[in-house]
Amino acid sequence: MAGQWCGMLPDKDGLNGGGGVQDGHPAEDPSVTLFREYLRLKTVHPEPDYDAALKFLERMAEELALPMKKVEVCPGRVVAIISWIGSRPELKSVVLNSHTDVVPVYEEHWKHHPFAAVKDADGNIYARGAQDMKSVTIQYIEAIRRLKAAGKRFSRTIHLTFVPDEEVGGHKGMETFVKHPEFQKLNMGFALDEGLANPTNAYTVFYGERNPWWITVRCPGSPGHGSRFVENTAAEKLRRVINSFLEFREKEKQRLNTSECFTLGDVTTINMTMVKGGVAYNVVPAEMDVSFDLRIPPTVNLQEFEEKIKVWCREAGEDVTYDFAQKHMDQNLTSTDENDPWWQAFSSTCKAMNMTLKKEIFPAATDSRFIREVGLPAIGFSPMNLTPILLHDHNEYLNEQVFLQGIQVYERLIPALAGVAPLSAEL
Ligand SMILES: [Zn+2]
Repeated sequence: MAGQWCGMLPDKDGLNGGGGVQDGHPAEDPSVTLFREYLRLKTVHPEPDYDAALKFLERMAEELALPMKKVEVCPGRVVAIISWIGSRPELKSVVLNSHTDVVPVYEEHWKHHPFAAVKDADGNIYARGAQDMKSVTIQYIEAIRRLKAAGKRFSRTIHLTFVPDEEVGGHKGMETFVKHPEFQKLNMGFALDEGLANPTNAYTVFYGERNPWWITVRCPGSPGHGSRFVENTAAEKLRRVINSFLEFREKEKQRLNTSECFTLGDVTTINMTMVKGGVAYNVVPAEMDVSFDLRIPPTVNLQEFEEKIKVWCREAGEDVTYDFAQKHMDQNLTSTDENDPWWQAFSSTCKAMNMTLKKEIFPAATDSRFIREVGLPAIGFSPMNLTPILLHDHNEYLNEQVFLQGIQVYERLIPALAGVAPLSAEL
């Protein structure tokens, strides 16, 4: 290991771990100590230490006295499943999903080492994954631990699924897992997965996601010498393509900024992310390409939207074509209708705890999209209110009180969901 933080990592038990009163500080809640321990595992891309995570989860399963299954969905990519079988295991199950990987860090921008899980005087715990989403993993585990200790049992089976590779697109994780026979065996009725922090007192819940389209537009043109007015150049076409895409971008930005009820999830974002072409200063190139990252809300008609792109290309000039590096077409939304039994259980529990919910479309992509794609309902929810959104950012942190409050939220949510009365299709 290299870097400025060498030798500054706290020991395994953490700064305040171990219980009792140390130096006049009250003992740390064991759930917080466990959270900080999990944060110290380096499940960071590009080479996540998944073995460490699996070992940790095996220990959790042992402590909870629940069976854990390991499903290798791709070489070196294991989905772990801890199951608490319900009293009526034939009913559809509740799945509590979390991913074990985290995104890379720029260590020099962090005030504490990103894998030390330092807790400051205000109780803020700094680590990569503190929000996205190691907090949720430990909150699930601790809620289950407390419910088991209280002697509870529910009619529906609860599965905790721990998946790899969410942060690199889920291709060797959830995307493959949903097609695996072991996924079928979960007999899933409803899933909870990650959401985002909310800086206000409210909690954000996500019932759908925007579809990512990654597109490259190719502009061929007549080559020639850089000293002439060559006709039909690639650059002229490129300019028209860029203008069309960026003018639309501007309109969507205006739409977002002028409507109070819009969030990022309600509009289409377009960003020009790559440009290629050219060989020399004095050679007019035979082709120039430009790539865009588009995120399209589920309310947009995708066929019509692609027509628009076709028109932009046609208008740009002769032989302008496009192709997709990624084109998601799933527009399934999870029901937030008050008559939906899952949503009813979720929302009424939150209401009973005086929590304000804000329903939104997730602006980026999570593993929930693969669950929704196979026709199952999933709600994205990370119980973090009064917290700035710091996922993938420097100095990602979560306050220990917010973290502990989240465990209590799951202690109420899990019984409500696992106690949903048999649905008409289950009778
Ligand atoms: Zn995440």
